[in-house]
Amino acid sequence: MAKRDYYEVLGVSKSASEAEIKKAYRKLAIKYHPDKNPNDSEAETKFKEAAEAYEILSNKEKRQRYDQFGHAGVGGAAGGGRGGFGGGMSMDDIFEQFGDIFGGAFGGQGGGFGGFGGRGGGGRRVFKGSNLRVRVKLSLEEIANGATKKLRIKRLVPADGVSFSTCNTCGGRGQVSRVTNTILGQMQTASTCPNCNGLGKTIDKKPAGADEHGMIRKEDVVEVKIPAGVAEGMQLKVAGKGNAGPLDGVNGDLLVQIEELPHDDLQRDGNNLHYELYISIPDAVLGTKVDIPTLNGKARVKLDSGTQSGKILRLRNKGLPSVESYGTGDLLVHVNVWTPKNVDSRHRKMFEEMQADEAFTPNPDRSDKSFFDKVKEMFS
Ligand SMILES: [Zn+2]
Repeated sequence: MAKRDYYEVLGVSKSASEAEIKKAYRKLAIKYHPDKNPNDSEAETKFKEAAEAYEILSNKEKRQRYDQFGHAGVGGAAGGGRGGFGGGMSMDDIFEQFGDIFGGAFGGQGGGFGGFGGRGGGGRRVFKGSNLRVRVKLSLEEIANGATKKLRIKRLVPADGVSFSTCNTCGGRGQVSRVTNTILGQMQTASTCPNCNGLGKTIDKKPAGADEHGMIRKEDVVEVKIPAGVAEGMQLKVAGKGNAGPLDGVNGDLLVQIEELPHDDLQRDGNNLHYELYISIPDAVLGTKVDIPTLNGKARVKLDSGTQSGKILRLRNKGLPSVESYGTGDLLVHVNVWTPKNVDSRHRKMFEEMQADEAFTPNPDRSDKSFFDKVKEMFS
């Protein structure tokens, strides 16, 4: 079977950025994750296919070779280690290599391990704690200026006084071998030790409230600096502030998901803000000064006499800063002339007089551009 194009597998363009590739892979990995698709071999194939594509495209050098030579440039011919994908990747390899991409999507708050690390070097296994996720709500004012938030979280940490000894079922290996007779002869299979669940150790003294790994959930306060310009759905990672790994393992991370609170007056559009201003008919005719709410106090704006409804004023740099680059957005003020809905007989008379007067007949000239021209100008 011919291999599918890696970009096609991930559903990204050839010019996709590293972040786009990672995002696309994460989406597929979660969709076809074996935990979500038990005993579904098609999902497993898709899962492995996506991991393979990601392995190549997330590596600058491999991606370049792939772009130049296609599958042949990165194919199975590569020798030792996991250089190539000759025989395909095993599920264990995938989790070991890319486990952190799942974040807290699996396991998560429920505890458990993020996975194993450091296998193969002959050293002991290191257990990684799972990631924790929290949401933080921010007002536009906080987003404009950046904020420091103290987040209260409950993390799994080793309980005080917990002690372990080497598992005597597996001798600390965490795995047991079993020999089975098959039609092809004897086969040795390794599986997770049922006595210690792969930890290699069993708990000696379990303090009250601790789980089977000697861990206990403790409240912790983590201070998180949130940079200015973040947006709804963005995720910040605080390394090492997730659940602790059992047996002196590595801590998981704390993933902070940004939630944006709606603003009473201003609407966000990327780094720009929009404000709908309503002025009276006399103010439109005679001109006026108005106070526009911004994220840092009010800004006084002068409206010329003869201001048309639909005019857009741009207040430079009164928008939001960009989180990944320099520069600040603008605040765009949309002028609406307010038409009264209820008029009494006296007002009616005033307006009837104006109706009859030629000075009030619309007579747009070139300076009164259409709405679309204005928008085009605004974003060019
Ligand atoms: Zn064991």
